[in-house]
Amino acid sequence: MSPADGPVWDVAIIGAGPSGSLSSLILARLGLSVLLLDQAEFPRRKVCGGCLNGNSMAALQLCNLADLPERLGAQPVKRVRLVYAGRCAELPFQNNWSVSRSSFDWALIQEAQAAGVTFAPAQRATMGEVSGSCRQVELQSKTGHSTIEAKIVILAHGLKAGTIAKNSRLGAGTILTQVPQRLSDDGLLMVIGRGGYVGGVRVENGRYDLAAALDVDFLKTHGTISSAVNELFRQAGFEEIAEVAAADWKGTPLLTRRPEQIAGERWFAVGDATGYVEPFTGEGMAWAMNGALALAPIVQRSVLQWQPEAIREWSNLHQQKIARQQWPCRLFSQVLRWPWLSLGLVGGLRLFPGLARPVLRHLSRPIANPPRVIT
Ligand SMILES: Cc1cc2nc3c(=O)[nH]c(=O)nc-3n(C[C@H](O)[C@H](O)[C@H](O)COP(=O)(O)OP(=O)(O)OC[C@H]3O[C@@H](n4cnc5c(N)ncnc54)[C@H](O)[C@@H]3O)c2cc1C
Repeated sequence: MSPADGPVWDVAIIGAGPSGSLSSLILARLGLSVLLLDQAEFPRRKVCGGCLNGNSMAALQLCNLADLPERLGAQPVKRVRLVYAGRCAELPFQNNWSVSRSSFDWALIQEAQAAGVTFAPAQRATMGEVSGSCRQVELQSKTGHSTIEAKIVILAHGLKAGTIAKNSRLGAGTILTQVPQRLSDDGLLMVIGRGGYVGGVRVENGRYDLAAALDVDFLKTHGTISSAVNELFRQAGFEEIAEVAAADWKGTPLLTRRPEQIAGERWFAVGDATGYVEPFTGEGMAWAMNGALALAPIVQRSVLQWQPEAIREWSNLHQQKIARQQWPCRLFSQVLRWPWLSLGLVGGLRLFPGLARPVLRHLSRPIANPPRVIT
């Protein structure tokens, strides 16, 4: 059945990353009819470090999915090693896991389907006009164009719209089939250099996830993502890593961006679609999934009866719950652009690792008001 043959949906969700699929799962469990759309076929690759922090784990737990990462073979991440210009600081981690996004995102979609969500892959969706008590969504697939209607549309399409920050970086990532010998480690390795940073972590099935954020000029100077990433490793004191040069890298659009609005008549945005802030230790998915939890009650009410106040309500709640938690990552991403500040940061944390504790605590402080557990 094509999505257009379906009913008027209570909710149509554009994007099946963690924010979209968890939104769909929660709303379906609340009894709503939900259509989840994605332009990709799944499982699909996604540039990401694959780290789930305590806050991501808390969001999964609230949805009775706390065991999902382990079921997928996720690896515990017990520490992060920050390396800059040959100096290394080591910080302990608690309740952090790493898993490839191809497995994690596909598993969340399957959980959503089990909760009653209709999933339509390979559908490029665009939000359309309001028509009566619905909003239209235009769909483009290999077989043609169609239009569906939903009472509420959720934009969970990740890095897309919005004003791009002047010094925004590009993302890049790959998964290696095994851990390179020079990098073998049981934690998250974060290599910082002049021109960006790259994180590496072991994921399920003995594979190794590498994800980088690169300055545009740095990437241009080095010509390819693999040369730029190897240059970051070289600056940090590593020898050239052959696996990095041979890997199949995938890039992203420019990262740091902010849309003008995160809600409007019969639509709400969630996850990266509300604006992108560079994450460092698993914040991106935590904000995406906790955003889904915080938004769900507003969507549930809006399906029953649309009230324009919902627009302001979501903007305020998002500011309170998500945006306020993002300042350490904003600050960190600025610090890492200045060599002497980076050196000071890594040197300071090397001597006094405890200094990072309040910041890590802030970043993993539960975001969502625990709603009733959604079973
Ligand atoms: C280099 C890098 C490293 C990172 N490391 C981590 C990390 O270790 N831990 C962490 O928590 N976060 C990390 N992040 C951030 C994390 O990847 C994002 O914050 C997270 O994926 C946001 O989830 P989302 O659901 O909002 O969007 P996404 O995961 O981007 O999902 C959006 C989905 O929408 C679909 N889509 C887009 N447009 C359309 C359309 N028109 N129609 C239909 N579908 C559409 C896409 O195909 C995609 O599947 C990292 C990001 C980068 C760039």
